[in-house]
Amino acid sequence: MHDIRLHNTLSGKVEPFVPLHPPCVHMYTCGPTVYDYAHIGNFRTFVFQDILRRFLKLRGLHLTHVMNLTDVDDRIIANAAAANLPIRDYTEKFVQAFFLDCKTLSVQSPEHWIRATDNIDSMVQLIQRLQQKTFTYDSEGSIYYRIAKFSDYGKLSHIDLTGIQAGARVDNDRYEKESARDFALWKAPKPGEHFWETPIGPGRPGWHIECSAMAMKFLGETIDIHTGGIDLAFPHHENEIAQSEAATGKPFVRYWLHAEHLLVEGEKMSKSLGNFFTLRDLFAKGYKPSALRFALASVPYRRQLNFTFDGLQQATSSVERLRNFAARLKNEKFLAGSQKNMAGRIAKAADDFDAGLSDDLNTAQALAAMFDFVREANIAMDKGEFCADEVKPAQDFLATFDKVFAVLEDNDNEKLQALGFGTGPSTDDAEIEKLVAERQAARKKKDFASSDRIRNELLERGIILEDTKDGAVRWKRK
Ligand code: AMP
Ligand code: ZN
Repeated sequence: MHDIRLHNTLSGKVEPFVPLHPPCVHMYTCGPTVYDYAHIGNFRTFVFQDILRRFLKLRGLHLTHVMNLTDVDDRIIANAAAANLPIRDYTEKFVQAFFLDCKTLSVQSPEHWIRATDNIDSMVQLIQRLQQKTFTYDSEGSIYYRIAKFSDYGKLSHIDLTGIQAGARVDNDRYEKESARDFALWKAPKPGEHFWETPIGPGRPGWHIECSAMAMKFLGETIDIHTGGIDLAFPHHENEIAQSEAATGKPFVRYWLHAEHLLVEGEKMSKSLGNFFTLRDLFAKGYKPSALRFALASVPYRRQLNFTFDGLQQATSSVERLRNFAARLKNEKFLAGSQKNMAGRIAKAADDFDAGLSDDLNTAQALAAMFDFVREANIAMDKGEFCADEVKPAQDFLATFDKVFAVLEDNDNEKLQALGFGTGPSTDDAEIEKLVAERQAARKKKDFASSDRIRNELLERGIILEDTKDGAVRWKRK
């Protein structure tokens, strides 16, 4: 096994990953702001953190992973007020949709899902700590963080603070680097807006204090890994560092990991630009969850991912190739014994796979290790040179692969049905195998009308049958 190395935005370098208290790893992920359905750009980031999570677990680390749901922020307050709903009622639909989307993309649940609105007390307490240490000031019922007092301000995003006017403030939660300002920790209520009555006055938390307070409450004052999309590095994560480290005097996060954006025709996919697809948009066009997960995972997280339908189609074929290979291993008969070269080949592929993921989650390298092996093994099988003793190691390698990539199990139809799509005939492995067995039985009885009918039915489902010399039958997806 190779040493795990991860790129830390704080140092700008790829560093050996050593948890603070091995084998435990404490990890925090900024979750979605639940004011709308998440788009596939958001899921680029969530699939990245899932690959990271699964890989760390595969390597035997004990993960405590927290993901928050930002269920109060500027946009939620505005949308809920426009819909004349309490914020919790407004966000609930999007929270449930997010959970279902995660399940559909095989994004594992973290150990803790937490909602901002369940943790207002911790936010208030953190603001009080900052008040005691005079990192804050009040203005018109709101409380601001004084960035000039925190000498490390800017260390994550490396912004140039010269020329910034002391005391200049910003009320919006999201702003550009050029407008680095004192930011709101606590916002005074505006007429008609939702607010909480608290010891620091009526109001609601700013977005940044939410994550600092929740991360430290659930994971401690110094955590191992914090993840998010690259747009969160400034101001969100910069402000999280300022809040947490000013309060505790300790390093807040040891490794900051940021995923580059998913782009559409060169532009960031975002709700505000209106160039976005939700998962449901793609499933309505007939694409499968496994293909989308594969497409999002296949480009290493620090490279921008240009989304195209061609790419999604290629991902569909790649997943099919793997599933077909797994089916061959399971269903075909191989010569007894072992073939030394192939045994070595499997061990080498597994090592290359681990080397790829260990190198800052280079998913492209890990996938290349798998696909090179599959190509060679398929050729060996066609030539009758793949032996029975290699079946188990090859299956073990596939299983290891799938602990991270999670695309082999053909449960796409089931998932689509849960979302109200994919009501066509099933193409799940079990169903196909049942039909193949029925056709074999029909052939045995020389009932060729039935056997042809089943063959055609399978063809309509995109399944091709190949009768082998020894009378067995092999099936694969088109
Ligand atoms: P939000 O719901 O806006 O807070 O975003 C949820 C997550 O998605 C954050 O980690 C963002 O950085 C990330 N994100 C937003 N847009 C994109 C994109 N186009 N590509 C990748 N990640 C994104
Ligand atoms: Zn956050």
